[in-house]
Amino acid sequence: MRLILLGVPGTGKGTQAAILSKQWQIPHISTGEILRQAIADKTSLGLKAKAYVEKGDLVPDHLIFHIIRHRLSHSSAQRGWILDGFPSNLSQARFLDELLETLRHSYNRVFSFYVPIDVLVQRLQQRGRSDDNPEFICRRLEVYQEQTAPLIQHYRRQGCLTVINGDRSVEIVSQFLQASFCESSLLPNQTTLSVGKKLITPRKTNSIYMTQK
Ligand code: AMP
Repeated sequence: MRLILLGVPGTGKGTQAAILSKQWQIPHISTGEILRQAIADKTSLGLKAKAYVEKGDLVPDHLIFHIIRHRLSHSSAQRGWILDGFPSNLSQARFLDELLETLRHSYNRVFSFYVPIDVLVQRLQQRGRSDDNPEFICRRLEVYQEQTAPLIQHYRRQGCLTVINGDRSVEIVSQFLQASFCESSLLPNQTTLSVGKKLITPRKTNSIYMTQK
């Protein structure tokens, strides 16, 4: 299984990626985590990325491309992977497509997580990470809106996007993710799926999984 998880920090995509990674024994590749570790270890990547991460700006693409090329080519990633925080802009999405073509792989699905802005700010403030203070939160939301949000439309056009409401408990969101995989496994014989009262055709139209209160 190869998945791309999109979402503003605090939407719960990292938590869900960790659950799926454990369940399927495939790597959870979080570019944010890799960068934070590199900064803590003071590696050359960390030194180059530090100022960007601390400001809430995106790190230059060429540094990220290096990480992703290395991780996706690694033997541990041959059975699948979950990308969390990558791609973060359209040029990264194009790079990923080219890399996957070279590796003769492709992704199965893109999940876009969202939560209402007030919940998001509250979650980030509670998380208490050094880059989660109000000024940086605003900057990161701004960067997401400007550079990452266009990916939602990009993947929607390709018909592989599922929108996930992250404003629910970890367990409920996880159940909805699982349900979406069970349904998509029916795909070869059954192209139209029913989700609640909606009929959807994954890969032909956009699939939307909304969790209920
Ligand atoms: P995250 O853990 O996803 O919130 O990422 C933390 C920080 O790492 C971001 O604010 C960026 O500075 C940097 N970062 C993470 N992923 C990327 C990416 N794909 N491209 C550029 N910068 C990234």
